[in-house]
Amino acid sequence: MAETTLLATWQGEHFIDGRWLCGGELFENMNPARYREVLGLYPRGAGREADAAVAAARKAFAAWRRTSRLKRGELFLRLAGLIQRDCDTLATVLARESGKVLNEARAEVIEGLHMVEYVFGTARQPTGQVVESEIEAKDLYVRRKPRGVVAVITPWNFPFAVPLWMLGPSLLEGNTAVFKPSEETPEIGQRLVRLFEEAGFPPGTVNLLHGLGEEAGDALARHPDVDVICFTGSFEVGQHIRRLCAESDRKTCACEMGSKSAVIVCEDARLELALSATLLSAFKTTGQRCVSAGRVLVHRRLLEPFARELVARARQLKFGDPFDPASFAGPLINQAAVDKVQFYNKLAVQEGAQVLLAGGRAEEGELAEGYFMRPMIYLQEHGADKRTIREEVFGPHLAIIPFDDDAQAISIYNDTPYGLSMAVITEDYRRWRLYRDECEYGMGYVNLPCIGAEVHLPFGGVKRSGNGQPSAAALVDSVTHRTAFTVNHELGITMAQGMSAATPGHAGRRDA
Ligand code: NAD
Repeated sequence: MAETTLLATWQGEHFIDGRWLCGGELFENMNPARYREVLGLYPRGAGREADAAVAAARKAFAAWRRTSRLKRGELFLRLAGLIQRDCDTLATVLARESGKVLNEARAEVIEGLHMVEYVFGTARQPTGQVVESEIEAKDLYVRRKPRGVVAVITPWNFPFAVPLWMLGPSLLEGNTAVFKPSEETPEIGQRLVRLFEEAGFPPGTVNLLHGLGEEAGDALARHPDVDVICFTGSFEVGQHIRRLCAESDRKTCACEMGSKSAVIVCEDARLELALSATLLSAFKTTGQRCVSAGRVLVHRRLLEPFARELVARARQLKFGDPFDPASFAGPLINQAAVDKVQFYNKLAVQEGAQVLLAGGRAEEGELAEGYFMRPMIYLQEHGADKRTIREEVFGPHLAIIPFDDDAQAISIYNDTPYGLSMAVITEDYRRWRLYRDECEYGMGYVNLPCIGAEVHLPFGGVKRSGNGQPSAAALVDSVTHRTAFTVNHELGITMAQGMSAATPGHAGRRDA
């Protein structure tokens, strides 16, 4: 704390079994746009607090899973009203601690609201299936049961919407939850949990555990009484969580992780559309979206005009104060993120990139007080040994990679360990169908940026981007278990597949 100006206005507390608790060691929440400014102090939870939070969630599960699904859903209607009431404040808090520009922070709050509305709306939807049996007198049902205690571990870059993608479906289905927000954005997580409390969710159904990933997050992920881990974050942490689950005898996980997403500009693309889609995909949120494009694949015929105009427009983008309406995007989240981008910027040069826009730290005036960076754009031929066009940078760092035909573009697109998001820019309906079917991704777009999500769709990737358990609307599959339930309506027993039901003294006869 030595070098910082202590302007702490926010006080963090855990929320366990319906009570707000503080104490023990604290950690600081810093403002990424003014890195000497402490925004708040939060308790550094670990094993003991994780035990208490999981025990509270387990205790609450018994009654919550028996509560009518419609009653659970109605609490989400109340929650929606509270989010609408507080929308401006929530957006301000989100912008301050994440560095997102205000308009984008507001859009995220609205995305979270949409999830809450969606959850309320689905409460009255059928949840199971009635299936025919080969035996006329049997009725077969498929019913979803909640899995139990869900640990929700979330990243800093969508600190309001992503927790709701996970908490919403988990709670509606009758699970209880322990939510561990990112240590970079604890305040917005805490504000969200206060709204759950105000909406009337019973004590223990939603618990909040603050702390560092390797302490609180790890204790939660290892906890033997957690049934499901819903994780969104980096591949490295997600892989650690997947290993823990593989070793456990009960725990499952839904992991959404990083990417090396791309925009593909085909020979017939409209240049204007391609340029806007690329700028939004690569540099919105300062390249810190999971779906941010680190690559734009451009047909060689369009390469020269596209690259020239892209660089000219990227120079005009304003990376500045999140509260200045003229800012296109804000700072990076922390010093480690700056170091990582600088490392990849240098590596690109070492790997033979032709630099078109140098990028680097922005240090003019007030920008020197935050983690601001300018965008780097470079031309790079695809090659198997180039790390910068395969690894996630998570910052304003964009490779333009030329291609000669669709088959080559598809093979370049697929040649990374990730598979999250892909946008193809073309006027040809045959062409986009080819990309739709041959590229490896979770979210595909035509004539749009490769960013942007709507909550009633699944959200998740393949390969290193996800473990096949998408989030948002599709999370229901990860937080419920589908049980088969069979009822016999005749007085005797008839087995399926022609198997005899005869037992001593009973040959499958009906009772008198
Ligand atoms: P991160 O992996 O560093 O942290 C994510 C969460 O995991 C945080 O809450 C952190 O405290 C916790 N954590 C860290 N170490 C842990 C451990 N050992 N055990 C348990 N929990 C631990 O990620 P981040 O920097 O917050 O977010 C950026 C990353 O998230 C990027 O890679 C981005 O692509 C990815 N992301 C993916 C999606 C998606 O839907 N695929 C969405 C948003 C972000």
